Amino acid sequence: MSEQPRPIRIGVGGISLESNDFVPFAAELADFTEAGFLAEGETIFSLAGSEVEIAGALERLQQESQLEAVPLLAARGVSSGRLSQAAYARLRSGLLDALRRSPPLDGVYLFLHGSMEAIGEDDPEGDLTWAVRELVGADVPVVISCDLHANVTRRMVEATDAILGYEHYPHDDTRETGMRAAELLLGIVRREVAPAMVQGKLSLLLTAFHSTTLRETPFAQLMAQAKKLERDPQVLSASLFLVGSYLDAPDLGCSALVVTDGDLERARQEASRLALDFWRRRFEFEVETVSVREAVHRGQQVDGGPVLLLDTADTTGGGAAGDSIGLVRGLLEAGVTEPSLAMVVDPEAAAACHRAGLGAELELNVGHKRDPRWGEPLRLQARVEQLSNGRFRYRGGILGGIEVTMGASAVLAVGAIRLLVMSVPTYDWGDDQHRALGLDPATAKFVGVKNMMTFRFGYGDVMKAFFVLDLPGPPPPDMRQLPFQRLRRPVFPLDYELEDPGLELSTSARFQPHERVQERSR
Ligand SMILES: [Zn+2]
Repeated sequence: MSEQPRPIRIGVGGISLESNDFVPFAAELADFTEAGFLAEGETIFSLAGSEVEIAGALERLQQESQLEAVPLLAARGVSSGRLSQAAYARLRSGLLDALRRSPPLDGVYLFLHGSMEAIGEDDPEGDLTWAVRELVGADVPVVISCDLHANVTRRMVEATDAILGYEHYPHDDTRETGMRAAELLLGIVRREVAPAMVQGKLSLLLTAFHSTTLRETPFAQLMAQAKKLERDPQVLSASLFLVGSYLDAPDLGCSALVVTDGDLERARQEASRLALDFWRRRFEFEVETVSVREAVHRGQQVDGGPVLLLDTADTTGGGAAGDSIGLVRGLLEAGVTEPSLAMVVDPEAAAACHRAGLGAELELNVGHKRDPRWGEPLRLQARVEQLSNGRFRYRGGILGGIEVTMGASAVLAVGAIRLLVMSVPTYDWGDDQHRALGLDPATAKFVGVKNMMTFRFGYGDVMKAFFVLDLPGPPPPDMRQLPFQRLRRPVFPLDYELEDPGLELSTSARFQPHERVQERSR
């Protein structure tokens, strides 16, 4: 009597959050449930059709007839501080309990950010992947995908069979990354491939400013080198991780990671080579910054506008509070008379404007209340020119078409400056926030922008020039501005003259060359 073979079962889930250690607030569950997602059990299938990694993984898995995807827990939060202990415990146990309840699995796919931190746990992704490994045992393959900005740790490498990173920055390949991870996992489950993974980690921190993969940047060239390796059928995956992440963790660093089919020595060679090429180009990632006064002076030589003044250190997408008023202070000190736009998150000031009413003249303190570490509030004499409930719909970007709110909002007239005061930080993609309150950046001479990458899309058609400001903040344009305390030294660029790349290799503890039992079929 022959038994019906049971279907292949793949557990799918993940927890993704980018932490910033230099903000005074923690990430809570609401940062997932309100501005991201938290799905458990069968509701994970409702993410299919979206652009997130797990949707890509599900799409690939569902192409197989004899396969059952077993949903675990899937959560993504908006960039913030460390995850609170309670929130981490809740998400961690949600995922692990689902794994305990699941029928025997043949493989597990997890999407992680790679730069999450929790209060009391510097490496929650390492902790989580080991906990998964302990539950499923040594014989069940575990493949994870990470953001391109992941701080991939030794624990993560040792606990898993393969790690894949996004290939694009800005990230528009999350879904494809999930598909690639599922493809590789299926190959391992079917024993068509035997992954040998090595990570080469560097004493290197970079900021994300010069790392778009859409133009010929140093990072785009390095990524192309990695992807060229993948054309060799023996190289299953090659990833580069640019740690533009603001974590005060001992082992923070950029890395290269290569997974070959059964050839550990080759993985070691290629990961080392890629990592050292990365190291050699470190000076090309440096960002030229200028003071607000200098940016105004240089901007005044530019014909027309808008000239973008980039306060990248207050990028809400990098976890910042969005409440820096340094740019406005600088514009006033520089005595600008040209029409200029700026923005700040300050719920108290926004409430004061709503109380005073349209057209009212008032004196108020603005800025640096949510995060007082990077500057002082600014005393302003201003007129309330617009009031709004702050609702708007993104016209483009990763949130294109989605309606969100910046809470009670107002436009304050301060001389030639129009200051948009918001209650809630929102992702700054283009000029949607300004336009929601009737402001047109295209007609302004100077426009203050709080992001380090997406302005190239949001303002690409209209901007005449841009300058990166030397203002302080938790995601600064130069890592040397951060008050690291626990970071292991030496590290570039904090130790600027460092010549030793500090290359450290980590290998998956799972590597077992004899596992490969049949010739690869593709
Ligand atoms: Zn990223």
